[in-house]
Amino acid sequence: MYSASDLVDARLLADSLADAHIRTHLFNASAMGAMGDLPFGETWPEVWIADERDLARARALVAAHAARRSASGSVHCGACGEDSPSNFGCCWNCGADVSPQDDHRAGGAPGDLH
Ligand SMILES: [Zn+2]
Repeated sequence: MYSASDLVDARLLADSLADAHIRTHLFNASAMGAMGDLPFGETWPEVWIADERDLARARALVAAHAARRSASGSVHCGACGEDSPSNFGCCWNCGADVSPQDDHRAGGAPGDLH
């Protein structure tokens, strides 16, 4: 019922749904984990709702999830080219530091991140 743009997104959503006691199945997650050099896009992770009666509630959560995701934005990894949610701080794919360069970091007091 929801095709995530990436595995991180799918897991975040599944977590949100789990918090609401909605059981989900995450498809293609293992394929993503082992995809190596497979072309991106053939194995979109999908979040399925286990119980159809949860669907309406789940859709509301998906909408909230999408809004939150677009609000927080994403950061582009210069090392591998993947986008990560900006609140991650490091690239989900290669682990490079992708902390947002705006807001709290720019102009912050030296050492405030330690
Ligand atoms: Zn990266």
